[in-house]
Amino acid sequence: MVDKKKSHSHSNQISRAASARKALLQWHEVHGRHELPWRQRSDPYAVLVSEFMLQQTTVTTVTPRFHAWMERFPSVGHLAGAGEQEVLAAWEGLGYYSRARRLHAAARSIMEHHQGEVPVEESDLLALPGIGAYTAAAIRAFAHDQHAVVLDTNIIRVLARWGNMISPIDTAGGRSSLEAIADTFFPKIGCRSLASALMDLGAMICTSGMPDCKECPLQKTCTAASPETLPKKSPRTVITKLVEHRACFQKGDQLYLEQSQGPRWSGLWILPDLGSAKPSGRVLAEITYPITRYRVTMKVHSVKSAIPAGLKGFSREELANLPIPSPHRRAIAAILFPSHTPE
Ligand code: SF4
Repeated sequence: MVDKKKSHSHSNQISRAASARKALLQWHEVHGRHELPWRQRSDPYAVLVSEFMLQQTTVTTVTPRFHAWMERFPSVGHLAGAGEQEVLAAWEGLGYYSRARRLHAAARSIMEHHQGEVPVEESDLLALPGIGAYTAAAIRAFAHDQHAVVLDTNIIRVLARWGNMISPIDTAGGRSSLEAIADTFFPKIGCRSLASALMDLGAMICTSGMPDCKECPLQKTCTAASPETLPKKSPRTVITKLVEHRACFQKGDQLYLEQSQGPRWSGLWILPDLGSAKPSGRVLAEITYPITRYRVTMKVHSVKSAIPAGLKGFSREELANLPIPSPHRRAIAAILFPSHTPE
């Protein structure tokens, strides 16, 4: 009985998705952003270039640069044969130059391992520099029209709303709900048109903030109760600032440390805590570091009083090989080598 109910609701989902796809594709034929330059070219290299450029840059910024790039490097071979300086110069205006280096390296790898053809298989794409799960899916769908579930920000928003997904998108539960909705929505064939249509709907109608549901081709099948609140994200962790005061005891060439008994740094050597003692000495070092939901500012004060029992003195050479947690090592470096410390 339960299985029958499940399979009934599953087949409902499938037919709902089929109606939605049909309406979406009809809308897209008329209203889609077909003028985007990478949509007007069918060569996989153009898709590869556009996907790298669009990774962290807007469509408006990418469009003129994409034209210039394709004139300068019209094929994988042209790009692979260019020098790094030339490639970096052509990337100017797009920012995040590491993408240019990775695209260049990907072109060289394609020449070396795939005879200059952008690969189709997901595993081959993922093996190329700069290509992660999203870019591999986008290249499979847009360049080769293969079955691939493309999940960029616009598509995630549309699907999360269409499926009224209330679990936060940045949790494992949310991610698996989204994948289930996407699996139902994406067809086995025709992923290129569908992914373009979903992207355009997300950019033009189902926008972040208040969507224009009255104009939406998915209105009849969409189940979003309060679309403007979707997709949900986990509440951001509030970072609390803390200040801690530590002591610097020095005598001769020795710096005095205590061996931590606390759970975090048990057995490691640290600058002694001033605790509730009112700090008075000059601040020799000030560094900040994160711990869980805290951002800690450590101030290290010069202390001239007698060295407490329990501390142990170390020379600079001994300190180099001593197990010291990173924030304390940075503070010690700032005290002993002030001109070498970036802070
Ligand atoms: S009906 Fe509204 S919320 Fe649903 S997909 Fe369309 S624009 Fe987005």
